[in-house]
Amino acid sequence: MTAPFQQFVLKVHSRCNLACTYCYVYEGPDQSWRDRPRTVSDALMDRTADRIAEHAAAHGLRDVYVNLHGGEPLLTGDGPLIRYVAAVRRAVAGRTGGACRVYASVQTNGTLLTDAVVARLAEADIKIGVSLDGGLARHNHRRVDHAGRPAWPAATRGLRILRQHPEAYAGILCTIDTAADPIEVYESLLEFEPPSLDLLLPHANWSSPPPGTDTAHEAPYGEWLAAVFDRWFDAAEARTMIRLFAAIIGLLLGRSSITEAVGTSPVVAVVVDTDGTIEQVDSLKTAYAGAPVTGLDIFRHAFDQALHHPGIAARQLGVAALSRTCQECALVDVCGGGNYAHRFQDGTGFLNPSVYCPDLEHLIRHIAGRLSSAVADA
Ligand code: SF4
Repeated sequence: MTAPFQQFVLKVHSRCNLACTYCYVYEGPDQSWRDRPRTVSDALMDRTADRIAEHAAAHGLRDVYVNLHGGEPLLTGDGPLIRYVAAVRRAVAGRTGGACRVYASVQTNGTLLTDAVVARLAEADIKIGVSLDGGLARHNHRRVDHAGRPAWPAATRGLRILRQHPEAYAGILCTIDTAADPIEVYESLLEFEPPSLDLLLPHANWSSPPPGTDTAHEAPYGEWLAAVFDRWFDAAEARTMIRLFAAIIGLLLGRSSITEAVGTSPVVAVVVDTDGTIEQVDSLKTAYAGAPVTGLDIFRHAFDQALHHPGIAARQLGVAALSRTCQECALVDVCGGGNYAHRFQDGTGFLNPSVYCPDLEHLIRHIAGRLSSAVADA
């Protein structure tokens, strides 16, 4: 049975005020952003809101998650973000009789956050997540504006404001750079008191391998993450939620996954671009130009039709849709072949283990070992 979508990634601006050197949206093989409208119209917001409500009502959903993305979503100012979320909440309440709750967040580079913007987003019950590469200026040397100036001063100013509004603070999302010391990155990010931390593997695949894997280490990303895990796990008190670690622990205990990075849970996220096209998740843009395309749009198609798209249906099948190597792997129920985009290879498509296979294996075995020891010592 097909699982309904529960997470709606709504693009609100197709450009960014930064030009991070590793950005897969603007620097990657898929340049479709060039043809998109910069911003969303009010008519598109209303239509998307109604489509989400239609989906929530049809599937009896109790919760849906709306994530406002870009580019940099705050390039629109906070007004359109607040209007978009209000339209979704109004439509969902109308169609479900108030039975479905809409959780909303915006993912930003933090540089455009001001006291007034954060206060208005908080008032509208929209949480704010910030993307950083670490908690020090030198960790963020690749995050620059179009003139090459560092984004760090403006981003930290925004984070300091956000820290004053814990009710609006979703957390920090950090893409791993193995050239940086893991403990330093982790501890420096904690200075910003994020309620949650997403540590992401850089988007890569077999045809476009991850940076830093030509080293003597077989599993550089696994080792990096294991070092952070130990510091996090050994802390005397809980300091933040790290989604990847929580997901792996949950999967080891037999729960379903809370992130598309691991596990075999069906994909529940879908994207609506600024022109109303319905797409698969952005990370697929790293595979080849047009990889996220479904050929559907919110004006002519319901989200249910996207559930039958071959690319989405394939990600609903769990272990059955994985490569033979993954199917026969002892860790498959926890790893799930990793992030779908990381399995791609020119010629064979997505039917491969993750390009991060040794890293995932290292991290999962490390966490399983630490949990076993903790239980044995208890
Ligand atoms: S990617 Fe590697 S560790 Fe993960 S399930 Fe496949 S073979 Fe196992």
